[in-house]
Amino acid sequence: MRHLRCEWCGGDFATQRGPGRPARYCRRSHRQRAYEARRQAVARGIRPDEVLLSRRTWDRLRDALYRLEAASEDVAMDLMAGRPTKAEYVGALGHLSAAVRDLQEIAVEPIAVGDD
Ligand SMILES: [Zn+2]
Repeated sequence: MRHLRCEWCGGDFATQRGPGRPARYCRRSHRQRAYEARRQAVARGIRPDEVLLSRRTWDRLRDALYRLEAASEDVAMDLMAGRPTKAEYVGALGHLSAAVRDLQEIAVEPIAVGDD
């Protein structure tokens, strides 16, 4: 078995070792969506180093990254001050985990992906 990362969704998947090109996608539908995104890139003049996202996805990503950064700063401030208790560490971890979950829940489905 070989462990790979899907070029569409970023998820890990396993595939059998064997002859031929290694799989690039975790499932057939992701291969199809990647193909469509490359076609859209050509149709819209998206360069190889560019990706086109919807405004909604972009806003959600940016907001979630901001919340993660703020949570990271909160936790650093809280834990650097004095001698944190176990409960404070647990609270800090929960705060950070919630911010990470917000980010993980965003389905990043590009409209077009430049083909490099
Ligand atoms: Zn996938």
